[in-house]
Amino acid sequence: MQRQQQQQAEGEDDEGEEVVCLVCHDGPRQWGFLHGGSVHVGVCGGCRELVRARAGAGGAVSCPVCREPVDGIIKLIQA
Ligand SMILES: [Zn+2]
Ligand SMILES: [Zn+2]
Repeated sequence: MQRQQQQQAEGEDDEGEEVVCLVCHDGPRQWGFLHGGSVHVGVCGGCRELVRARAGAGGAVSCPVCREPVDGIIKLIQA
């Protein structure tokens, strides 16, 4: 009897998606939004452009996560 060799797909879908863009859930997280000394990460390059394009007349960018006014958009570098 050799019927016990069942291969199950690894359940990798529960985790491992923490590094995708918070906005489109597609691209890699490459940019973070700095506000008040903390940073919300992150979005992909395409979504960064969308967020910047949505900036108000005064150039104020709102964090796509918490809507806080953003002091700056920073590039994330992963070792
Ligand atoms: Zn994105
Ligand atoms: Zn935020």
